[in-house]
Amino acid sequence: MAVFIPVNEPILSGNEKKYLNECIDSGWISSEGPFVRQFEEGFAKYTGVSYGIAVSNGTAALETALFAIGVGPGDEVIMPTFTIISCAIACLRLGAVPVLVDIEPKTWTINTSQIESKITARTKAIMPVHIYGHPVNMDEIFRIREKYDIKVVEDSAEVHGAQYFSSHYGNQWLSCGAMGDISATSFYANKIITTGEGGMVLTSNPEYASRSRSYRNLCFLPEKRFFHKEIGYNFRMTNLQAAVGLAQLERIDEFINIKRNIGKYYREKLSSIPGVRFQVEMPWARSVYWMYSIEISSDFGIDAEMLQTRLRKKGIGTRPFFLGLHAQPVFQKMGYRFDLDDFPISDHAYRYGLYLPSGLTLTYNKVDKVTNALSEALKE
Ligand SMILES: *Cc1c(COP(=O)(O)O)cnc(C)c1O
Repeated sequence: MAVFIPVNEPILSGNEKKYLNECIDSGWISSEGPFVRQFEEGFAKYTGVSYGIAVSNGTAALETALFAIGVGPGDEVIMPTFTIISCAIACLRLGAVPVLVDIEPKTWTINTSQIESKITARTKAIMPVHIYGHPVNMDEIFRIREKYDIKVVEDSAEVHGAQYFSSHYGNQWLSCGAMGDISATSFYANKIITTGEGGMVLTSNPEYASRSRSYRNLCFLPEKRFFHKEIGYNFRMTNLQAAVGLAQLERIDEFINIKRNIGKYYREKLSSIPGVRFQVEMPWARSVYWMYSIEISSDFGIDAEMLQTRLRKKGIGTRPFFLGLHAQPVFQKMGYRFDLDDFPISDHAYRYGLYLPSGLTLTYNKVDKVTNALSEALKE
């Protein structure tokens, strides 16, 4: 068998080692070290917001962001069903309830036309989740935010550097992560830039920033240490992680270029395989092609899981799409009856969708191998 093409692989050949050595040499390895601030400021600036609050992972960032805007027991947060469980868990840990909406078939992002009907007196926030590098169509969400007293918490884990063209806000390109009242991102090893494990809360609201800082650090009172008026957690990022993050941030535009070039090449190659659909980059979107995601036609008579097995045998690593939150056994066991609603687009995407090798080390030659293997696998 030829070499295996993994689904992901980061590039760590810049200043990562140099900055890590500086941590070791100086003894600054905890969250008190200087790289944490530098990484926070750098990534906030890159995103176009005033404050970045580095945390231990993206799931913690979501929870911290919801805490910061005041989400609490009984509140409702509207989100797509087609997302990682982190979005729902962040709510549940604060005593709030996720309210689920189906997705758009072309981009697999939240169907914004279904949001308004889900608003109740308890709705505190909408959580748009940008998917696989592609932004949510935000204008309808902006309109709803203005009509009701509702906050927008973006999940921008999969879209470092992506942009959205807003007609609502004067026909301009806006940055993903800077469109919400607050946003949460992740630097897990497979994200566009990585710290191994890590995340960040982003906002231009000073009060939200300070509540986020407090929550990630056990809600110590600044004026009186070891006095606590609220519950927080230890969600701090270490200087070691931030050292890697800072080195990664120096190369983010280069990484996005790689992603976009490979993404366009994939799209070109896949367009000649009938029955295979690639995530569509909408005219109002500048995608960063985080994961090269496809959905296959049901006419092949196989589902994504069978296709994955066939591709693995051919040396191609893939990952399945999200199982909708409405269908998660754990939530059904807990008594949440999300399944009383229908989420046909999400169900279809889960059944027939997967993502192909998407690492930064991918070459055109490897993409040829992947797409050839794919067309063979579909004919078996
Ligand atoms: C990766 C990811 C997260 C969670 O990030 P972790 O750092 O793994 O906790 C949250 N939301 C989305 C959309 C993600 O892709």
